[in-house]
Amino acid sequence: MKIRIRRYHPSFEPKVKLFEYEGEGSTLLEMLENIKTKDRTLTFNKGCRSGICGCCAVKVNGKEVLACTYEPKENDLVEPLSFSENIRDLVCSASHIETLLKRARAFLEKPSNKKQDEENEKTIRKQTECILCSSCHSSCPVYEVNKNFLGPFALTRSYRYVADIREEEKREKIEAVLKDGIWDCTLCGNCTEVCPQGIDPKNDILMLQGYAGRFGFQNPNLSSFGSFGLDF
Ligand code: SF4
Ligand code: SF4
Repeated sequence: MKIRIRRYHPSFEPKVKLFEYEGEGSTLLEMLENIKTKDRTLTFNKGCRSGICGCCAVKVNGKEVLACTYEPKENDLVEPLSFSENIRDLVCSASHIETLLKRARAFLEKPSNKKQDEENEKTIRKQTECILCSSCHSSCPVYEVNKNFLGPFALTRSYRYVADIREEEKREKIEAVLKDGIWDCTLCGNCTEVCPQGIDPKNDILMLQGYAGRFGFQNPNLSSFGSFGLDF
């Protein structure tokens, strides 16, 4: 089977080149490994090989997938994820992950003595399954216009802790996701569509918007429409 791979290397001229390879494998990761036996310079990430660690996320024909679970098709175009620093070929830096999670204060900050009950654990179980593969981040169109956007996985994880009954600093957490956060999402749903864990970041962002409203924060985009309306 033939696939195309968009490769980046500082020594290439131009630095980004499209390569065509013949290879075989029942998953894209197997195929990349097969191609590497013939071209040792091809660089990609691999880890658990079973869709758990999330480190082999790439784009195929413009859509984010995990290479270890995707079944390759003739003439597929394989590319690195978008909106993260491309280090080499299909490998991108993961440094944005920690930065975004810290900015969103997406962790248990001030735990109370409350015990988490089964119902609350169930409410946030799905969000807890995030493997930080960055597929949602890569699919998000907001990064085309705002590179400071907190983005889907950080907001999903923020919701996971805001909704945790043990967290006492919910208001502070909401304050952390107002700027370049919950109001900047276009609700396009790309993140939800590509998530290999079946997480719904778009809905989690809507839930955070609901919390923000309850704490008295308004969507600044809607308040400007409001003043416009008052002029009539
Ligand atoms: S929310 Fe889904 S797509 Fe986004 S990083 Fe987590 S597992 Fe990956
Ligand atoms: S729903 Fe929001 S966070 Fe998700 S991809 Fe679209 S704009 Fe980005």
